[in-house]
Amino acid sequence: MARQDPIARYLPHTFANGTSVRRFAKPCPRCRQVVEAADMFGQLAVLQDRLFVAAEGRCRHCGHRFSVACMITNNKHVHRVALPMWAFKLWLKMATRNTIQPADPAWSMSEPEPEPVTPSLGEADVVAADTIVGRYDGLEIPAWINHDGHRYNFERTIASGQAPRLAASEQLFRERLVYRRENSLDVTV
Ligand SMILES: [Zn+2]
Repeated sequence: MARQDPIARYLPHTFANGTSVRRFAKPCPRCRQVVEAADMFGQLAVLQDRLFVAAEGRCRHCGHRFSVACMITNNKHVHRVALPMWAFKLWLKMATRNTIQPADPAWSMSEPEPEPVTPSLGEADVVAADTIVGRYDGLEIPAWINHDGHRYNFERTIASGQAPRLAASEQLFRERLVYRRENSLDVTV
């Protein structure tokens, strides 16, 4: 019997190409609230440049339990696994023992919509402005943040349980605050 660890225990994961998955979440199929990796129990396997998640999601909001079966590629795209959970687990077991080649599983399908794998910057990743422009759900909103040598100005907030959708010039901070890079020209999605 495999141990049922929270998937969050395996994160962040950095791929060989430098892309890092810090956060993984899925909307609850029943109430649509976001279920984080801390509330998914099962297995996360690393095979070549892919992550495979076979877990049970447990929604904190409504108590619903559901299967999470997916593959995350090193460009952070999430693919749904179109296999019954038992078959997926069996496949994973064989793949992690090198009995089969994991490349390009024919049963993986692209998700119709991007999943919320958006990583949020934490306090250690940024220098935040002392100027506070407001509060949101008890969070202080700094006017700007500096990250990787660039300044990002506060743009908008993300409602609780909503999957953040960010433009290329935007960064998520404290999970709920969106900042946009100064002087960026791309269009908000
Ligand atoms: Zn729920």
